Amino acid sequence: MQDISNFLKRTGRKIGFIPTMGFLHEGHCSLMLKARDEADTVITSIFVNPAQFGPSEDFNQYPRDFLRDYHICKSCGVDYIFYPESKDIYPNDFLTYVEVKEMSEKLEGKFRPGHFAGVATVVLKLFNITKPDLAYFGQKDAQQVAIIKKMTDNLNLDIKLRICETVREENGLAKSSRNTYLTKEQKEEAAVLNKALNEAKRLILEEEMHDIKELKKEVKKYIETNSPNSSLQYIAVTDFINLEKISDLKEYKGDVLISLAAYYGKTRLIDNIIFEK
Ligand code: AMP
Repeated sequence: MQDISNFLKRTGRKIGFIPTMGFLHEGHCSLMLKARDEADTVITSIFVNPAQFGPSEDFNQYPRDFLRDYHICKSCGVDYIFYPESKDIYPNDFLTYVEVKEMSEKLEGKFRPGHFAGVATVVLKLFNITKPDLAYFGQKDAQQVAIIKKMTDNLNLDIKLRICETVREENGLAKSSRNTYLTKEQKEEAAVLNKALNEAKRLILEEEMHDIKELKKEVKKYIETNSPNSSLQYIAVTDFINLEKISDLKEYKGDVLISLAAYYGKTRLIDNIIFEK
């Protein structure tokens, strides 16, 4: 892959790269299509990265279907699929990890220790292998976006990041490979997460609700009432640069990120909303 990337660069092609864990859906396609639009050569990686899964998480169950993904990539105009094996990425003598401190311990990091070190490490490796000019990420994983932005900036990577909107089902549920774990009923109920985030945005912008505790209570109540089979793990209101908690919404000016995670049975879903205040 590195030889191909070097060749593409020598011949002046602009490389667009989309890292994924496969089991592709319209969310991934939106990234690929944007890359197709902006770059000369589009590379996608498909790699279920063991380093970003905790010991009790779903690494083994994570859905995988290369042939299905291959056809989706083809239909989205992808030129190369980088499909390594774990031992190629993490050989036995592997010792080096990248850590974006502080930001990695917040939000998702509190419940998934080590997750973002795994993400940052694999993304940096994939950048070094595919040598992109442009790299595409989804807002669906907002903390990942903030962390990769910080890494790119701190480590002087010469790569432009493109952030794409979250693609959703008709009912508002964010598309995710993990949605395949959900029953039809759970899929219907889980649409409430997006509605709750929109309600939180409305409460802040229209009703000028500034008390974060009060706001979180309202959102929690909204989710519990409309989705009795959910179990909300956290909801947080932060900025979208350093992921610092916003304590005084009245004074705050800038991008507000409201993130949450909720369980439906054993399935853990995340979602977020970002808006300017
Ligand atoms: P994953 O395969 O889940 O690691 O995701 C690969 C990339 O696709 C990440 O940048 C995700 O943020 C992005 N992505 C996943 N789901 C969506 C979605 N529903 N809308 C937009 N981007 C998404």
